[in-house]
Amino acid sequence: MKIGVPIEVKNNESRVSITPAGVFELTKRKHHVYVQTQAGLASGFEDQDYTEAGAEILGSLDAVYEKAEMIVKVKEPIEKEYALVREGQIIFTYFHFASSQALTQAMISSKAVCIAYETVEDEEGSLPLLTPMSEVAGRMATQQGAKYLEKPIRGKGILLGGVPGVPPGKVLVLGAGVVGIQAAKMAAGLGAHVTIFDINMKRLRYVNDIMPSHVVTAFSNEYNIRKHIKTADLIIGAVLIPGARAPKLITRDMLKDMTPGTVMVDVAVDQGGCFETTRPTTHEDPTYIIDDVVHYCVTNMPGAVPYTSTLALTNVTFPYVLDIAQKGWKEACNGDPSLQKGLSLDHGEVICKEILKEMLV
Ligand code: NAD
Repeated sequence: MKIGVPIEVKNNESRVSITPAGVFELTKRKHHVYVQTQAGLASGFEDQDYTEAGAEILGSLDAVYEKAEMIVKVKEPIEKEYALVREGQIIFTYFHFASSQALTQAMISSKAVCIAYETVEDEEGSLPLLTPMSEVAGRMATQQGAKYLEKPIRGKGILLGGVPGVPPGKVLVLGAGVVGIQAAKMAAGLGAHVTIFDINMKRLRYVNDIMPSHVVTAFSNEYNIRKHIKTADLIIGAVLIPGARAPKLITRDMLKDMTPGTVMVDVAVDQGGCFETTRPTTHEDPTYIIDDVVHYCVTNMPGAVPYTSTLALTNVTFPYVLDIAQKGWKEACNGDPSLQKGLSLDHGEVICKEILKEMLV
């Protein structure tokens, strides 16, 4: 199969969809891989790394779309790519169709075969192509929170781990899912005192079993949250209610109960955020302050660490890329119920019912 790896054109997106290791595996099996020049640069891969692995480097986005039977990307195509997508071409990437009717319409009109990373689902009902990005965001949440606690960037001036003779900082993690557990793990590793909240007792039992004793669990309700925020230094929002907007667990009036310089990192910002005062921010301008509380609400946190994120993402996407290349999309989807769940559009026909629901809204 002819496979294309374009540069990601979305603002601030530095990941790349296939690494030189992936190219090596594909070309070994006689597939042809076109990589747009400098597509891997921000993730630490030079054109030469790709050519040594067997890829052909192309000079433009148009050329990659023109030659490839399957385009493998990271983010959804943006407007300037819509016209490049051809009938029958396979596009394998994160689409998040619900967030853009224009994208959905453009992909339907193109009659392409669209397979969405975010809806590939394994037998246990988890989303294997989303998990690594939640892991990255969770670990980053603590790293960013620790940074913004520093005084020069208007934090409290607290070192999360403390030092001998000085107690560590206090971290609250709201949500004990993938993001929350990784955030808590990082905070615990720094030596902070961590309290992790959830409404799911199974999750809390799991956290209690696996975490060291300075990570404690609490049932998530307004009373408990109000009590804990008074002494918290860093609060990380990591809740998710699948298919719904995040619940507002920290309301505007609660900010006055926090001490000045408290930092709040809302990882759930992409689902509307779990703080009432959340508004989406970017890596260029990641924070803002309300009532002396620092807010960090970057929507694509993994984009800031493209080297790690690219490897984490391609570790899980590549087996599917290889399967599609070897068998063709139809046979690959028919033979793998997980991949079949990712099939969103087939030559203009909407396969994923969730997309139809969104179109009727
Ligand atoms: P997850 O499903 O693994 O975990 C969510 C947890 O929230 C679950 O354990 C659930 O029981 C819990 N929860 C639900 N309601 C709650 C409540 N009222 N109080 C406390 N906990 C509650 O989800 P995840 O993979 O950890 O993702 C969390 C969020 O992070 C999602 O919104 C996801 O989209 C987002 N995310 C953002 C970025 C970014 O760059 N900003 C990156 C990755 C993920």
